[in-house]
Amino acid sequence: MSFISEKFRRLTPYTPGEQPKDRKYIKLNTNESPYPPSEHALTYAAEAAKELMLYSDPQCTKLREALADRYGVDKDCIICGNGSDDILNFAFSAFCDDKTPAVFADITYGFYPVFSEYNRTPYRIIPLKDDFTVCPKEYYNADGTVFIANPNAPTGIALKRCEIEEIIKNNPDNVVVIDEAYVDFGAESCVPLVKKYKNLLVTMTFSKSRSLAGARLGFGIADKSIINDLNTVRYSINPYNVNLMTSAAGIGALEDQKYTDENCKKIIKTRRKTSDSLKKLGFFITDSCANFLFAKHESFGGEYIYEQLRERGVLVRHFNAPRIADFNRITVGSEEQMAALIKALEDITGRKI
Ligand code: PMP
Repeated sequence: MSFISEKFRRLTPYTPGEQPKDRKYIKLNTNESPYPPSEHALTYAAEAAKELMLYSDPQCTKLREALADRYGVDKDCIICGNGSDDILNFAFSAFCDDKTPAVFADITYGFYPVFSEYNRTPYRIIPLKDDFTVCPKEYYNADGTVFIANPNAPTGIALKRCEIEEIIKNNPDNVVVIDEAYVDFGAESCVPLVKKYKNLLVTMTFSKSRSLAGARLGFGIADKSIINDLNTVRYSINPYNVNLMTSAAGIGALEDQKYTDENCKKIIKTRRKTSDSLKKLGFFITDSCANFLFAKHESFGGEYIYEQLRERGVLVRHFNAPRIADFNRITVGSEEQMAALIKALEDITGRKI
């Protein structure tokens, strides 16, 4: 017997990556940063904790001002949320309905179909090409709200800004949402296009490059009118969606841009090195611009590799989905974590680098 409302009876929820506590794993399954949060973020959050008897600022004014400064946009062009998932969900609510389906790729962020179903709006899938790249032209005149993760997940492959600009231009009557959760690891951001196009929403997060996944902080940048629409939804669900410690941590992280930049550089360097090692072990790797690698072995199946790694204390993400079941998504961690990964894979594949 279930009391769940009829409208959610057939909803298949999103499956987050495991956060197991049974043993200590080398965690390469949820694309967290291997580096701790900035000291500024920690100090500001601790200071803010003294004010926890008060509600947080529903407008996130100071945080939006700091973001406006960082991204060179007006603060009224920014909305903050409980992770970028929050903003994406607002976008599905605000900009999709029976006449306006969500439009996204077959292989992309697994939350998009769930947001669609949760908001009870239809969606239309545009398959990636055989090499897992997006064909921009297929998104022209999409007749729906377009969602593109750039870089894409779990492939890590990115479109160029000029290719996305063509998609935006060719959808004058549709909102185009560019999910830039992983943009700081080597892709071109579309934020500079926000001033030019009223139909563009860019979403970003503090979870990856800024090492604040547990704080839950994301934001959207768009023309004021899109932000107003998103706020209509936000104020109807949870105006206090960003707690005051998180907001303070975000401001601290933004002040410490140098730390974020250094960490991104380290991750990009480690990505290159790990990618070379994986190729030597017989893996095919997509061209990733993100903090993860998407890898398929020439002889062993994806699930087998996943399970063998797990037994050896290394957690990666395996998706039992069409076209990608032979792949695993591997977060780029620290040099030490990657050395342990490669050692485990040498053991599993019986090869040596
Ligand atoms: N977009 C993509 C493509 C992601 O992989 C993730 C992380 N799971 C998110 C958005 C959401 O991240 P967060 O809610 O932590 O900002």
